[in-house]
Amino acid sequence: MDRLRMYIGGAWTDSSSNEVITTINPATIEALATFPRGNKDDVDRAVKAARAAFESKEWREILPAERGRLLLRLCQLIRQQKDELAHLETLDTGKPLSQAQADVEVAARYCEYYAGVADKILGETIPIRADILNYTLREPLGVTAHIVPWNYPIQIAVRSLAPAVAAGNTVVMKPAEDTPMTALRIAELCERAGFPPGVVNIVTGYGAEAGAALASHPDIDHITFTGSVETGKTIMKTAAAQIKPVTLELGGKSPNIVFADADLDEAAHWVVRSITQNAGQTCSAGSRLLVEESIREEFVEKVTALMAGLRIGPGLDNADLGPIISEKQLERIESYMQVAAAEGATIRTGGRRHAEAGDGFFFQPTVIDGIAAEGRLAQEEIFGPVLVVLPFTTTEEALAIANGTEYGLVTGIWTSNIHKAHWLASRVKSGQVFINNYGAGGGVEMTFGGYRKSGFGREKGLEALKFYTQVKNVAVKVNG
Ligand code: NAD
Repeated sequence: MDRLRMYIGGAWTDSSSNEVITTINPATIEALATFPRGNKDDVDRAVKAARAAFESKEWREILPAERGRLLLRLCQLIRQQKDELAHLETLDTGKPLSQAQADVEVAARYCEYYAGVADKILGETIPIRADILNYTLREPLGVTAHIVPWNYPIQIAVRSLAPAVAAGNTVVMKPAEDTPMTALRIAELCERAGFPPGVVNIVTGYGAEAGAALASHPDIDHITFTGSVETGKTIMKTAAAQIKPVTLELGGKSPNIVFADADLDEAAHWVVRSITQNAGQTCSAGSRLLVEESIREEFVEKVTALMAGLRIGPGLDNADLGPIISEKQLERIESYMQVAAAEGATIRTGGRRHAEAGDGFFFQPTVIDGIAAEGRLAQEEIFGPVLVVLPFTTTEEALAIANGTEYGLVTGIWTSNIHKAHWLASRVKSGQVFINNYGAGGGVEMTFGGYRKSGFGREKGLEALKFYTQVKNVAVKVNG
């Protein structure tokens, strides 16, 4: 079994305690590799390395275009190793190989996209009066901390690394303890791409240990976190104590709102896809189906048949659904089936583990009907392939249900009536709205982020750059 090392200051290293954690394949429960159990000392070493790199003449004076070229080389290396990276991601997360391949390509696209903007991060001139030249500079923040979850390890790692580096920051990243493998491989590729030592550092380890040490380190300048609301709150409190800016992406309970006048086959396909991609372990999963009462039975039957027909199995077999990431997460999903029983809900399909697919943590695609919009099943993020059905009769009622959770990440609207679609799009409380599609192919270019408890700050697209820069205003007296 491989003993992986973490990457600090351009060197591959064990943790100062020499302790390791084992990562497993959730499809087979077999051990894949060990990796360092990073601790406070290791985080401190990494932050020091990132600070030294940030302050170095080499990095401060690097041409913006050269930062772009580094990212472009990283993009090329990711593409060259795409098969191996996807294979690793599938082993570590369990996700179907085709989804891992798509994730790797998205990671490459982040590098390509932000490579192109590294030398286009512009300030403004602001007219004040004739003898003052007033301009703004968009400067990097400094050392940025990145805490990454286990559901899209390579995608989410590069999603924040690329804009941070494009804007001239340095990076300390902590991957999730369940899925460290591709982030470490990205560090290797950064090294090969010629990133100066200390610009990108990866510290592996547990959240409460390495993650907490990173979030509370006094010498970081920003924290990007993707994960649970509870951990998000902890991180925000820690950041508040030191007045550190944070970007939080905390998941959701996103609705697909399906009207009777929609293309129902197309809608059903995407409703199923949006809740089963990555076995439902997706922050933007379409986990609530809001369906117009007049087509409820017909549509729910269509969706149920599609869900029941999905193939479940190890990611390497490229089934439709891989396993859940861990026993802990599987048990959490199962606990919601007890809630369903207590709430008197009807399980239309699924609702249990799928031992037939092997020893791993498999769960069946599940459709739950007959629940209350205020109940836990309709309100809480289950983070598994579990779709709940909520009928509505009027557009106003659909809006009220759509906005009726604490979250607000994504909304899908399915209708052929453009007026209804726009009316809803302007009133739903969510960071992204998709009309007659869902996800639009990953959307590296699209602004992404939450309303309400789904978080704040924005990832992806040009908007993300605002969160990895700070603006300085300079006023010059010009004597004529
Ligand atoms: P989590 O929020 O605890 O973990 C996410 C990341 O944060 C991991 O890297 C973890 O090591 C780190 N972390 C944990 N505690 C920390 C702390 N105190 N300080 C700093 N970093 C810390 O999530 P989880 O326990 O793995 O999953 C629980 C639930 O979170 C899921 O069921 C799901 O609802 C949600 N989740 C959401 C996303 C998303 O994409 N929005 C991703 C993963 C999990």
